[in-house]
Amino acid sequence: MKQQYKIIELRQLWERILEGVKEDFDAKVYDSMLLDSYLSRIDGTKLVVVVNSSTAAKLLNENYSDFINGVVRAKTQSDYVVEFIDKEHEEIRPVEEKNSVFFKSSFINQQLNFDNFVVGESNREASQAALVIAANPGRTYNPLFIYSDSGLGKTHLLHAVGNYIKTNNPSKKVLYLPAEDFFDEYVNYVKGKESSEDLVSFFKREVDVLLLDDVQLLANKKNTLVIFFNVFSSMLNAGKQVVVASDKSPNELEGFEARLITRFNAGLTVNIKALDLETSKNILRTKIKMLDLDINSIDEEAIDFYAKKFSRSVRDLEGALNRLMFISTIKGPGRITLDVAMDAVKNQLDIETEKQTLSEQKILNVVADYYNLPVHQLTGKQRTNQVAMPRHIAMYLIRALLDVSYTKIGQTFGGKDHSTVMNGVEKVEKQLKTDQSLQKAIEDLKNKLK
Ligand code: ADP
Ligand code: MG
Repeated sequence: MKQQYKIIELRQLWERILEGVKEDFDAKVYDSMLLDSYLSRIDGTKLVVVVNSSTAAKLLNENYSDFINGVVRAKTQSDYVVEFIDKEHEEIRPVEEKNSVFFKSSFINQQLNFDNFVVGESNREASQAALVIAANPGRTYNPLFIYSDSGLGKTHLLHAVGNYIKTNNPSKKVLYLPAEDFFDEYVNYVKGKESSEDLVSFFKREVDVLLLDDVQLLANKKNTLVIFFNVFSSMLNAGKQVVVASDKSPNELEGFEARLITRFNAGLTVNIKALDLETSKNILRTKIKMLDLDINSIDEEAIDFYAKKFSRSVRDLEGALNRLMFISTIKGPGRITLDVAMDAVKNQLDIETEKQTLSEQKILNVVADYYNLPVHQLTGKQRTNQVAMPRHIAMYLIRALLDVSYTKIGQTFGGKDHSTVMNGVEKVEKQLKTDQSLQKAIEDLKNKLK
């Protein structure tokens, strides 16, 4: 029976042999004839190796085979013999293998689809654009460029496009490709495995739809970007769909050539914005259902609290829910109240600081009210006596009652530095020793704060 080898195994085997060959080979001849060679298949005891010209094949077979077969024996402890052929004579490889020459670890995650992507104000445009592209790959906007802060659903949408096309257009070959994989593959490649032309032709041959994630990671990688530009343009020119995800808009990207930015801008650019409260709540509700939890056992207040506190990204919302799941599994059945929900995430939120800012706010309100000033003047920059003294008093009270650091107080007061706050507080302390009306004011204020 003919033994089947994975491409990766062939590659590794040939690499090992080449290492040995290289040691005792004229460097110029090696570079010219073997540098870009590869092991195409194993035929019985024959290693069939493809080289870059028919002359090279002839020269190697006629003049070097004894030497190379010796290396093979030494490296493999077997009697394989090498036969060199040129590309023209290479047998077409089985299709499954052909597909996986590059980016073998890349796959489309079926869990990330349009059905479980919650649409709201913040991501409506992006999800609509992605859907149109998925339904008409290569026939509408090209590329589709999606950008947003992290954790807002770009990767999810790329996979959703991929899954949609695989279901509805199964003949299309879809590749989800994180930009760093492209970079890694390119680097390995230049280290002497194959010529970069092959990487470009891989895309020509094997990819109809390219879903490129986190393109910003290619910034300043000059050589990779040259190849990427070739890949990208040749795909667009061939009418093949490209979807790009990035953490910045094309015009905000730095470290990219202008010609690439121009091409990014040539299709449709959509942004996923910060989450609004409604979308956050809908995402939480959807995820709760997906986790098989009874939504009715969770107080609306708890959902509202999470939606407000973790609205920075969907990833944060998911993280909070996971902690809640964990805690409620430990606690056993029962209602999930606001208290339970807060308790589950207390480390994340640092509820103590939470309390503190609340009381700081209260002190500001009370002092402002006492002196008939608006709070923003109290925390602002104006330096008249009328404002300065109440401001120092507020600083003094925050320091005395809450033991907050001078630096942190400075932040509350519009970014004043540590020493400014300290001077203010000391001034009040000093004056308190003699000034009876100030003593009275502080007394009153403390009473109001109780
Ligand atoms: P990004 O790529 O923008 O950093 P991801 O796509 O990785 O963000 O999203 C982070 C997590 O949030 C993923 O688990 C993803 O499935 C989920 N997610 C993001 N947006 C949504 C949404 N609108 N509906 C449901 N889940 C979402
Ligand atoms: Mg992502």
